[in-house]
Amino acid sequence: MSQPVLNNDYDVIVIGGGPAGAATGALVAEHGHSVLVLERSQFPRFHVGESLIPETFWSLKRLGLVDWLRASAYPRKFSVQFFSDGHRPSRPFYFDEYKPCESSQTWQVWRDQFDQRVLERARELGATVHTDAAVLDVQFDGEAATGVRVRLTAADGSREDHKIACRVIVDASGQSAFLSNRLGLKDVDPYLQKGSIWNYFENARRDEGERDEGATLILQTEGKKSWFWFIPLPGNVTSIGCTGAMSYMFPQGAAPADTFQRELQRCPELVERLRHARQTRDFLTTKDYSYYSRQGAGPGWVLVGDAFGFIDPVYSSGVFLALKSAELAADAIHDAFVQQNFSADSLGGWQTQHRAAVTLFRKLVFAFYNPDFSIGSFLKMHPEFRSNITDILIGDVYRPEVGKVFEVMGDVTPPSDRAPVGTMT
Ligand SMILES: Cc1cc2nc3c(=O)[nH]c(=O)nc-3n(C[C@H](O)[C@H](O)[C@H](O)COP(=O)(O)OP(=O)(O)OC[C@H]3O[C@@H](n4cnc5c(N)ncnc54)[C@H](O)[C@@H]3O)c2cc1C
Repeated sequence: MSQPVLNNDYDVIVIGGGPAGAATGALVAEHGHSVLVLERSQFPRFHVGESLIPETFWSLKRLGLVDWLRASAYPRKFSVQFFSDGHRPSRPFYFDEYKPCESSQTWQVWRDQFDQRVLERARELGATVHTDAAVLDVQFDGEAATGVRVRLTAADGSREDHKIACRVIVDASGQSAFLSNRLGLKDVDPYLQKGSIWNYFENARRDEGERDEGATLILQTEGKKSWFWFIPLPGNVTSIGCTGAMSYMFPQGAAPADTFQRELQRCPELVERLRHARQTRDFLTTKDYSYYSRQGAGPGWVLVGDAFGFIDPVYSSGVFLALKSAELAADAIHDAFVQQNFSADSLGGWQTQHRAAVTLFRKLVFAFYNPDFSIGSFLKMHPEFRSNITDILIGDVYRPEVGKVFEVMGDVTPPSDRAPVGTMT
């Protein structure tokens, strides 16, 4: 696709064209403001994170993407199922068990295609989108953000730097956490210093039947030192990844393929499911991805998606939180233009509620990683909280009453993967 000619200033500039940036761009444009989305890579680009959770539906509906997903070949996801000790299955958490509705079923998506479609949607709704556009700097006047310096790479490889002014900068740069790093606001999570190794397998055995074949499986290995995700994708391909403490997953000198095999041997259920499967590519790795920004907005700037923070992959909450934060930020930005108030409170007022919602996921992540705690045993003692836990797995986390389960569960903070280095709110 040809690149647009850029103006010297816009109402809003978004750094990053992933789900958070594209959705913010789309919705700010829909509100009637001029918006420029700057994405450093060429799209489509590869991205990990294929499993959606049900509450993503409402953001997708607002973006006008539900019909596209319904017509797609992406596997339908009706549930998530956990295995402990490498082979003991829990009862699946079916999303329609408590409050069946149109959002109770979701999808497993190829992220290169999904992210490209969301970015196209931003264009359709009036945002200017430039790929091959790496933001190098954010300009400030005192504390107020006033614009960016961006490097544009042309099709022939030539590069040009431009300064572009704006009233509001949205940082949606994902794990690069552009502004949070620049401003020294990033707190790593001392309890979740994890790393992942993954690959895509053809012909891994899935459960049978429409309701189960697209399920996400989360398989804890024997000894609970790691866990695998199992995410069915189109074309009989399955995304399978292993996550554990960074030092455990990446010991010096060990090849990721060997570590994956080591952990696979602790997971008999997965060994069986992979008996006739074929690995499709070299192993991929990522680590050190759980952090939060102490401050999420300032005069003229606001953070969304992973640029604001990322918890952990276990409950597949990333794209949901990216799109939800984009919606909340886009509405706050519109109000800021109406009020002509671009303060931190005005642009980031939604973040108190958002952090509280993220905290519910984080507490459930802690329960998962605590070796002395079992969600299965907890639910045997307190079956009345199964619906509450399903609410969190679905992403229905913006209602404070959902947190009631933790009043009974108590503090399940796992042992630190590393000495504490900052405050998490
Ligand atoms: C191991 C692992 C597994 C995961 N599994 C899941 C899952 O199953 N389901 C799920 O929902 N989530 C999952 N996630 C999380 C999910 O992928 C992210 O939360 C999601 O991609 C966040 O969207 P985003 O738009 O904030 O960031 P991204 O999707 O990362 O987009 C950020 C964009 O910003 C661009 N960018 C960065 N810096 C600049 C710059 N300086 N200038 C211009 N552009 C820039 C990047 O190129 C990128 O395209 C997983 C994460 C990990 C680490």
